[in-house]
Amino acid sequence: MLRMQPFKYVVKYIPGSQNIVDSLSRLLVVPKNELKQGEINQAEEYIRFVASESTPNAVKIEDVDKMSLNDKELQNIRIYLTVKQELSSIGHIVLRGTRLIIPTELRNQILKLGHEGHPGIVLMKQRLRSKVWWPNMDRSIEEYCKSCYGCQLVANPEKPEPMIQTSLPSKPWEQISADFLGPLPSGEYLFTVVDYYSRWLEVTIMSKSTSADRVIDALDKMFTIHGLPISIATDNGPQFISDTFKSYLVQNGIVHRRITPLWPAANGEIERQNRSLLKRMRIANAEKKNLSTEIQTYLKMYRSAPHCTTGVSPAELLFNRTLRTKLPDIQIRSHDDTEVRDRDSHRKEKGKLYADTRRNATTNDLKAGDSVLVKQNRGNKLSTTFNPKPFTLLEKHGNSVVVQNDDGDTYKRNVTHIKRFIERKSSENQNVNSENVNNENQNVNSENQNVNSGNVNSENQNVYSENQNVYSEIQNQNISSENQNVLKGNQNGGINDKAQSNKLMKSVPSLEPSKPSRPTRDRKLPSRYKDFVETIVYVGLYTVN
Ligand SMILES: [Zn+2]
Repeated sequence: MLRMQPFKYVVKYIPGSQNIVDSLSRLLVVPKNELKQGEINQAEEYIRFVASESTPNAVKIEDVDKMSLNDKELQNIRIYLTVKQELSSIGHIVLRGTRLIIPTELRNQILKLGHEGHPGIVLMKQRLRSKVWWPNMDRSIEEYCKSCYGCQLVANPEKPEPMIQTSLPSKPWEQISADFLGPLPSGEYLFTVVDYYSRWLEVTIMSKSTSADRVIDALDKMFTIHGLPISIATDNGPQFISDTFKSYLVQNGIVHRRITPLWPAANGEIERQNRSLLKRMRIANAEKKNLSTEIQTYLKMYRSAPHCTTGVSPAELLFNRTLRTKLPDIQIRSHDDTEVRDRDSHRKEKGKLYADTRRNATTNDLKAGDSVLVKQNRGNKLSTTFNPKPFTLLEKHGNSVVVQNDDGDTYKRNVTHIKRFIERKSSENQNVNSENVNNENQNVNSENQNVNSGNVNSENQNVYSENQNVYSEIQNQNISSENQNVLKGNQNGGINDKAQSNKLMKSVPSLEPSKPSRPTRDRKLPSRYKDFVETIVYVGLYTVN
């Protein structure tokens, strides 16, 4: 087809009745040397034109020609078997259709040119696909894009991990959480404390100052009534990280749990309480009522009403008795602790499921020692999302991570504030890898010939069944089991890498002569189908027997 391109031609259908077939007309063969020199040149010129057009700017066609001559991969024809119908060549240059096949050594340069202007993976693929090709080009592009330093600095951070469900503390007032709400228009702050077990809420109004001394003062009043808790969770506000507050907690034997900075959702319970409280205060403000009185009214209602998560009122869980309210009540309710626990866990599970889906949560395999990028404060419009200097991941507990920079400073962050940093492998390594793969392929090839001849009998048996699925199934099984032996045998020869052996296994099926294939990608079932995959294995195999 390529050689026909310079001609203008029309394809006409002539019915057999008007086109009497005689052998002489079919035998017309023009000896090659009688073809006009000009016609050959035109065709050659066209291929040359296609070849030069599909070369990215800064790589010269001469370079491709020169490199192609000595390229080991291009000489290993088996890699190209799947696309053999599309191959043509001019000089040492090999074309697939109208696309140049780039020799191994030039690929990095092509990738570099293709990524100029920092296109994303999809755009970069489109850009290169029209011009050049090499086996596994898509994968090379993906790797190149993902490891681009600049692109990583402005990329999306990691997705959140699924929430870790907290269990209900064993007793009331063991684990509490404290936070500030405000400032209100009056300049006042509300200091709120909530008990994780009963959801009992304490509110103290603080005028203007929220110093550690004021906080200690407010807490001490609460502890006088309810006793000392085991732990208290707070954010990283200045009063909570002050030495005064720390020593107060130490004196009273209370553990201080500080939540991940920049991630208020970690202190979910108190944030939720504050939201409900704020809502009532907005109403009070709109109705021009006294805020302090309204807070007391809200607390009376909240503490005596069944809580949506536990199903029991905070007062009943904390004091083991109901509070008398303005509503008529016969006061004989009692609660069952296991029932409260079940309901709490059920509600939390529902909430977790909802939140995980909404936040698109997924587990990631970040681990200590990994290089990560950390979100930075945006100074201006042009600041990158991430700090340009990579950090080292020190610890990871669910969504909470601890990172360290080169100066040794450590920071606690949420996982959605970091991103795995991918360093680009040097081009030297890539060459070494591809050479290894070639050698391996050759080993497999020679071994496979043995495999095929050894299995002729079993194949023949299956031919009678005329079931092609089974046939290829068994063939594959034989080949792959034989390959495992090959691997074992070659271990001394230097194949240690598991990933490489995987490549090796994948390359086997392509040895069978096959139709021209399109590039395929690894398809993964969505995780919601995960549980149902296993049942469809090898059904075809058993129907024959
Ligand atoms: Zn880039």
